[in-house]
Amino acid sequence: MQLNGFVSLVGAGPGDPKLLTIRGREVLAAADVVFYDALIGDEILLWAREDAEKIFVGKRAGAHALTQDEINSLLIEKARQGKTICRLKGGDPFVFGRGGEEALACVENEIPFEIVPGISSAIAAPAYAGIPVTHRADGNCRGATSFAVVTGHTKSDDAPPENLPSADTLIFLMGVRALPKIVSQLLAVGREKNTPVALVRWGTTSEQQVVVGTLETIEAEVLSAGLKPPALIVVGEVVRLREKLSWFDNPKFKPLLGQTIVVTRAREQASSLVSQLERLGARVLQCPTISIQELEEAKYSVLDASIQNSANFDWVVFTSTNGVEKFWQRLKALGKDTRVLGNNRIAAIGPATESALQSRGIFPDFVPESSISEKVGEGLLARDAKRVLIVRAMEGREALQKTLEAGGAQATIAPCYRNSPDIANAKIVREKLVTGEIDWITFTSSSTVTNFIEAIGAGVLQQSRDTFRVACIGPITEKTARENDLIPDAVANSASVESVAEILVEFSKR
Ligand code: SAH
Repeated sequence: MQLNGFVSLVGAGPGDPKLLTIRGREVLAAADVVFYDALIGDEILLWAREDAEKIFVGKRAGAHALTQDEINSLLIEKARQGKTICRLKGGDPFVFGRGGEEALACVENEIPFEIVPGISSAIAAPAYAGIPVTHRADGNCRGATSFAVVTGHTKSDDAPPENLPSADTLIFLMGVRALPKIVSQLLAVGREKNTPVALVRWGTTSEQQVVVGTLETIEAEVLSAGLKPPALIVVGEVVRLREKLSWFDNPKFKPLLGQTIVVTRAREQASSLVSQLERLGARVLQCPTISIQELEEAKYSVLDASIQNSANFDWVVFTSTNGVEKFWQRLKALGKDTRVLGNNRIAAIGPATESALQSRGIFPDFVPESSISEKVGEGLLARDAKRVLIVRAMEGREALQKTLEAGGAQATIAPCYRNSPDIANAKIVREKLVTGEIDWITFTSSSTVTNFIEAIGAGVLQQSRDTFRVACIGPITEKTARENDLIPDAVANSASVESVAEILVEFSKR
């Protein structure tokens, strides 16, 4: 007997991928097949299994990719094949999402299903615009004790239902084209001309756009702003609160708002840069071009021998947080612990590596002001370094070793991991480069520059070069970028993630 599959009707939330629920993400990550609509962002789909079948069933204004009946049949067909299906719907599946119809199709065909509610745009888009849908009357506004969510698109007509609910706050979905009819109906039932109205487009995303007016002025405002669907309309006193409560699209808090920034750092290391940029309002596209990998067993020989004979070195230098992590992994594999470094002096190349060491109980004796290898080498020589062990990636510059040797010291390089190119993520970035949607590309090491160019293609980069800016983390990365015809627009003066975020903010103020 063929076992039936399972259908999860999952609310994907209003747009911001992080507003997908934990349960939603869990279901998405496990599904064999993912059905998705037009308003589901690319980022959410990255949480699906790589080998999951992803089927677009969205409706794009005018052109229906599939009819509702066709969607229902396809869902049932896949379920009958025994597949686990995640049916992703924008916002909440039961709020104008036709989730009810798909659930009924499951019932009729005896397919087991579940509903994973989502955060509806009806509440989230106003919230991200600084508009609470209910509010106690105060000096700011007369308040609202009820809200109603209404469609602006009945049958195949661009109009709201004939009888509008009498709630204090009205939220119209799918209503942009029906705006003139909505306004005249509301005036006809006695709403005051000066009732505040807001339209929120692409709420909760970095493209969020808000237009505010009154029943009298809103049509003209929308026209002059050129605002198009998808957007929702909020009508009521509570709209006044935006003046004080706007936060998400408030340039005071979000200096990088509206900017799309590519982060090329390895995924394992990128999170702090990504979260800082997002907090500042940027839309971040991760395009890791390097992935950190283990070495083949034989390649650990230098590291293993150095660990066994650590007394042969007076200094041990760690040149990256990965180096720290992999060094301790290797120690453990050899049945050793931190005490092997008991008699060595320790250097960390920069603050991040320093803190990785500190969290392992080692407070480095030397952290250079500048992370440039030559300076690090000079700093070590000035501290009487004679026999130095350099813990780093297989691939790397020879400059530190050379500087040490020129100063009469011995240097041993102990590779403990590999940086290898990773081109899987380049497709989305390449597409967005072509359409001019990318504002910044950030490089945090020389290898991110060369790997990125290889992954994207030098031709595409040069053709779109006028549409994006380049930021580098420090002088070495800058040099590599220049050598590859990507002249940086901004260079951070210290090798830290904070300073990259800082220069982007500074630049955007100009
Ligand atoms: N089930 C969805 C609504 C589907 S109807 C939910 O709960 O959010 C589609 C309409 O929702 C759009 O026409 C638009 O009016 C509104 N909408 C969806 N996402 C939106 C967003 N991010 N910002 C503003 N309106 C949005």
